[in-house]
Parts: sequence; structure tokens; C-alpha cells
Amino acid sequence: MFIDKAKIHIKGGKGGNGIVAWRREKFEPSGGPYGGDGGDGGSIVLKADEGIRTLMDFRYKRHYSGENGEDGRTKKQFGKGGEDIFIKVPVGTIVKDEPTGTVIVDLKEKDQEFIIAKGGKGGRGNAKFATSTRQAPGFAEPGTKGQERNVILELKLLADVGLIGFPNVGKSTFLSMVSAAKPKIANYHFTTLQPNLGVVRVDDEKSFVIADIPGLIEGASAGVGLGHEFLRHVERTRVLVHILDVSGMEGRDPVEDFYTIMEELVEYNPKLKDKPQIIVGNKMDIPGAEEGLQKLKEEFKDQKIYSISAATSQGVKELKYAIWDVLSNTEIDYDSFDEEMYEEVVEEDELIVTKENNKYIVEGDSIEKLLEGVYFDDVDSLRHFQESLRKMGIIERLEELGIQEGEAVFIAGYEFEFFH
Ligand code: GDP
Ligand code: MG
Repeated sequence: MFIDKAKIHIKGGKGGNGIVAWRREKFEPSGGPYGGDGGDGGSIVLKADEGIRTLMDFRYKRHYSGENGEDGRTKKQFGKGGEDIFIKVPVGTIVKDEPTGTVIVDLKEKDQEFIIAKGGKGGRGNAKFATSTRQAPGFAEPGTKGQERNVILELKLLADVGLIGFPNVGKSTFLSMVSAAKPKIANYHFTTLQPNLGVVRVDDEKSFVIADIPGLIEGASAGVGLGHEFLRHVERTRVLVHILDVSGMEGRDPVEDFYTIMEELVEYNPKLKDKPQIIVGNKMDIPGAEEGLQKLKEEFKDQKIYSISAATSQGVKELKYAIWDVLSNTEIDYDSFDEEMYEEVVEEDELIVTKENNKYIVEGDSIEKLLEGVYFDDVDSLRHFQESLRKMGIIERLEELGIQEGEAVFIAGYEFEFFH
């Protein structure tokens, strides 16, 4: 089964907590703070891998969690960081944010990596909070959570050449003649239910990749039949090879077929009509094919029309070289056919300090995180909290709003009394 769309849930590992510990040595009852930092959580990294051709694995495994960082240890030892997890995806996978649909990254280079969910940060141990005036901090920072999100993976094959044409015209047969690919060939419409990729060797150093696009049929762009599922793969090819059955054996008219397929392509993406296209008449071994070929030649007078028999390989070599020629003169430009890209914006932590109905309110991610790490029955911890509020500019902003001694402030849902 060829799966080219998948939705997965990913979550970076949690950072380990910093810990509170004390140095205890013989004859030294009150040693200094000795708690180490937690390790960072492992991230989840997507990696484009040439060995993977479909998104099938993601049907079975949909959740990925990074490894958590370990908590800090005594003697100021760091907790171990969580290992990053690598998820292999096919080259040509576009990653979109769910539910917005924004493109996060297009993994089109071999071995390209992208951190899709960052692990959380390890918290600092109490040893890090010691200062000259605070020699015994009885608090430490908790680790933060890893990034969590749903993403959509969408595979758009990257190939040099896209084989297009009606079902049964001989696309798969041609592919099997020029490459080692073994696509299903049968005298039956819709035999090709998945795009096949084949590498075509021109000589020792030159080769190109052909994608056999499953039968396009009338109405494909409107979602009728199978073809439209695969039209997206046509977008990212450099050259189209349009195969037409000129034998008349199935009662087809090659000229009519040509325009029908073009309509489908253009309906799907108007830019497709500007892609270089090689027109090929196939099944030349069948009597009567010459007539069909003439029809094509008359219709497309200013273009070279290739004629082959994929069955007997007549003309196949010439076509192979002709494709190489066109490819050599075509810039690699997968981009122009991609959907619009949006750079992912890393959200800045928003800190909101407001006065509503005479209540002072402070909200934001960073303040919530800070609050998680406060031990309210520890004087030092509270003092650290206050210092942090000052450093973050919160005290100043509250004062600007006119706060008075003893008034209530709601910080991330908790009520505090304001004392300067
Ligand atoms: P696709 O649907 O376009 O991939 O077509 P296939 O490659 O599966 O071919 C459909 C049928 O046409 C099969 O029975 C092939 O054997 C036959 N066929 C393909 N090319 C030729 C050819 O050049 N000559 C003849 N006589 N039959 C062919
Ligand atoms: Mg086929």
C-alpha cells in the first residue's frame, strides 16, 4: 500500500528537575548547597531518508515521545540528558502544522534533518542559586515540558521525470524497460495503484529518476477516480513524459487523449502546463499504429513526437537519451510547484500585565513556569521568586499601573499581596 499522508502526535522529552541537596561531610554539619541540574529532555528530529518510500509506517505508529532528562543528583552532578529520537521519513515529505495547515518544513534534501519538537530544559539545582547573601537556597528549578504538537506529513515525490497518460497506454511497461523497477503491468485499467519510482541509467555517470504516475482519468482533478490522489506527485517532477496509445487498439484517439489529460493537469495546477513535456506514441508494434502517430504529428507540428514500442523496446533507447537531453537543459526547480511556504514563527513568550476591574493580573508561560518551581514555605525560594519578578520587569509594570502596598495581584491564577 502506498501511503502518502499521515498525521502524527509528537512530544519532546521533559527536562529533568534540578534538586535540592546539601553537602554533608564528617565534622561539617552544615555544608553548602550541593544539588545538581536536571538533564535536558530529548528532542524529536525528522530525517529524510532515501531508503524510505512511503509514509506507511505512520499508520501503525502515530505517537512519538522524546526521552525525559534525568533529575539532577547530589554532589552537583547533572542528570543525564534524554536521547533525541530520529523519525525517518521519505525524501520529499512536507510537514504541516495541525490544525493550521501551515508548512513547517519541506524535507527535500537527502539526510536533511529538522527538530520538530524540542525537548524541555533541565531545571537548575540549588547549588546554582547560591549567592553571597543566600548561602543555603532551599529550592531548585523543575524541568520544563517538551514541545508537544500534531503534525501532518505529506509525501510529494521528487523525481526528474513524471510519466503521465491514460491507464493502459504502457507507462509501467516503459518504466520496466528502462529501469530495474518492477511495476505491475496488466491489461487492465488502474493497474498502477501506487506511483513507482525507477532509476534510469544513461551511462556510468548519468542517471535520472522516473515516477510512474498512476492512470489519470477524466475528472481526476475534481476528485473522480484515482488519478487526483497522485496529481500532487506530478508537481514535483522536472519533465513530463506523456505516453499515448497510438495503436487504436482500445479505440483511443491519441490527440483527444492528449488534451483530456492536459485539462486534468491544468485544472489541478495551472503551472503544470509550463513544464517541459515530451510526447510519445506507444504500441508502435501494433498494425495501424502508424496512422495514430501521424495524427499526433499533424497536431503538434512544431514539436518532435517520439514513437516507441514499450513491448519490443523499439525506439526506447532514443527516448531515454532524449529525456536526458531535456533534463540537462532544465534547471532543477522543484520549488516553483510547491505550495506556498511559511517560515515557522517561534512564539515569543508573551507576558501580560494588566489591571482589570481593579484587579492586577499577571499571565504568561514564563511566569507559570517560574511559579511551578517556587516553594512557598521556603524564604529563599520566595526571595528568588521576587527577584525574578523584578528582573522580568513585572514589578515595574505593576507600579506603572498604580499598584499600592497590600493590594492583591493574581499571578497565573494565584493571589499574592503586593509588598515592595
Ligand atoms: P499503464 O497502465 O499505462 O501503466 O500500462 P501498462 O504498462 O500496464 O500496459 C497496459 C497493457 O498494454 C499491458 O497489457 C501491456 O503489456 C500492454 N502494452 C504496453 N506497451 C505495449 C506496446 O508497446 N505494445 C503492445 N502490443 N502492448 C503494450
Ligand atoms: Mg501502470
